[in-house]
Amino acid sequence: PWKYDEAPQSTAAVEIKDQYELFIDGAFREPEKGRYMTSINPATEEPLASIAEATQQDVDEAVQAARKAYEKRWSPLEAAERGKYIFRLARMIQERSREFAVIESMDGGKPIRESRDVDIPLAAAHFFYYAGWADKLEYAFPGRKAEPLGVAGQIIPWNFPLLMLAWKVAPALATGNTVVLKPAETTSLTALKFAELCRDAGLPEGVVNIVTGAGQTGSLIVNHDDIDKIAFTGSTKVGKIIMESLAGTDKKYTLELGGKGPNIIFEDAPLDQAVEGIINAIFFNQGHVCCAGSRLLVQEGIADHLVRKLRDRMETLIVGDPLDKNTDIGAINSEQQYNKINEYLELGVQEGAELYQSSCDLPEKGYYCRPTLFTNVGQSNRIVREEIFGPVLTIQTFRTADEGIAKANNTPYGLAGGVWTDKGSKIFKVGSRIRNGVVWANTYNQFDPTSPFGGYKESGKGREGGLHGLYPYVKLNPR
Ligand code: NAD
Repeated sequence: PWKYDEAPQSTAAVEIKDQYELFIDGAFREPEKGRYMTSINPATEEPLASIAEATQQDVDEAVQAARKAYEKRWSPLEAAERGKYIFRLARMIQERSREFAVIESMDGGKPIRESRDVDIPLAAAHFFYYAGWADKLEYAFPGRKAEPLGVAGQIIPWNFPLLMLAWKVAPALATGNTVVLKPAETTSLTALKFAELCRDAGLPEGVVNIVTGAGQTGSLIVNHDDIDKIAFTGSTKVGKIIMESLAGTDKKYTLELGGKGPNIIFEDAPLDQAVEGIINAIFFNQGHVCCAGSRLLVQEGIADHLVRKLRDRMETLIVGDPLDKNTDIGAINSEQQYNKINEYLELGVQEGAELYQSSCDLPEKGYYCRPTLFTNVGQSNRIVREEIFGPVLTIQTFRTADEGIAKANNTPYGLAGGVWTDKGSKIFKVGSRIRNGVVWANTYNQFDPTSPFGGYKESGKGREGGLHGLYPYVKLNPR
């Protein structure tokens, strides 16, 4: 659904520089303290580039630039003109999509097929979609006047770097806000390439500022007095810290946090299709997906048969070089995440679960993990309750729909899940009782810029995407 017309492809070589600076007030500049972090290519464990680490003074300058741009250049601009800039950015992402895809895969480890066919086109689609809203806000909010909030501080994770940027930057700009965005420390390169597009598109200086750094830099953004709104996507742990820091301030905020998605397979499900769906739900992007279907709930009568089919299918998955078009599962994003996943694998075995991994070869270097499933797990096991954020699936069974629903909801999270059945009425009955922001039926991991996305419970607050994605960026006044 997000396949917009193809744009003419740039033939520029993919360039990764040795060193990247901060993008503030329309130009790249060195960090005040001159400190840099190293971004590692997780497929090779080799350094890819040095990335600037922003300090308090850098963040102050970025916020000042965003404030000035908001007051003098961006909010006074005709809404249709703002829309044109956003359209231009969408088009430029399309034109440079090959370069974006290669950089995304080298920086983050995801298979090129996914960066090329999902991340980058979907990022462009978000810019197209929100560009369209820029001069139609009166229709989005009938009878009310939607005013921008001012400067938005935006902090994003490493699993969908450019796409998460698009989720945040596009609606903020469309509603007349300016932005200070911090990408995740292991995957800053496509955000910095996007900064180049902003410059080349002639976007007024200071409208988009990209400050790189670790969590400390993120916290400087969260706690900055002159920021009006925080949009955060990341772990529930950091989301809670941010919520506490913002208590008592009048900053608006949205939080898109972790998940432990239930994927419920009924006996009457189309099984071959369900197997593909289960594979996609948990192994897409190495399982680094907030809405991953990481808890498989299978109706008892088909459980053994389904697990056998699943194992057979797992044997066909190719784990390896993210830049190889045949790769199904790329590299784990970082050494830290690789260690975390391996700790969960050990923990699962200690908890008494039965571990199965496909027998594929792994490259000698790089952070790779075989597709894994755990059977014989109980509801109280940590591998069932905690987000692993890797290619690791737990399998539980249920007898009745009520039991399946109860198990699906027995989690602190509530982001996304799936229901598989041949019966339309069951989809609606079961789907409406799953306490998740998204429930897919006979499919999984479908995204579209027109659809709102967000969590119940500890999976977050607020919605991004679609018309709902405009709300967090506006004050609504009577006309
Ligand atoms: P993380 O919370 O460790 O980091 C996310 C971002 O926050 C990074 O840019 C990081 O530098 C920054 N950060 C860290 N500490 C901070 C602090 N104290 N103050 C401000 N910023 C801080 O998460 P992660 O490991 O990068 O990402 C994985 C998590 O993101 C998973 O839990 C996943 O489910 C979640 N996620 C959620 C969604 C969603 O839409 N709900 C989408 C993608 C990822």
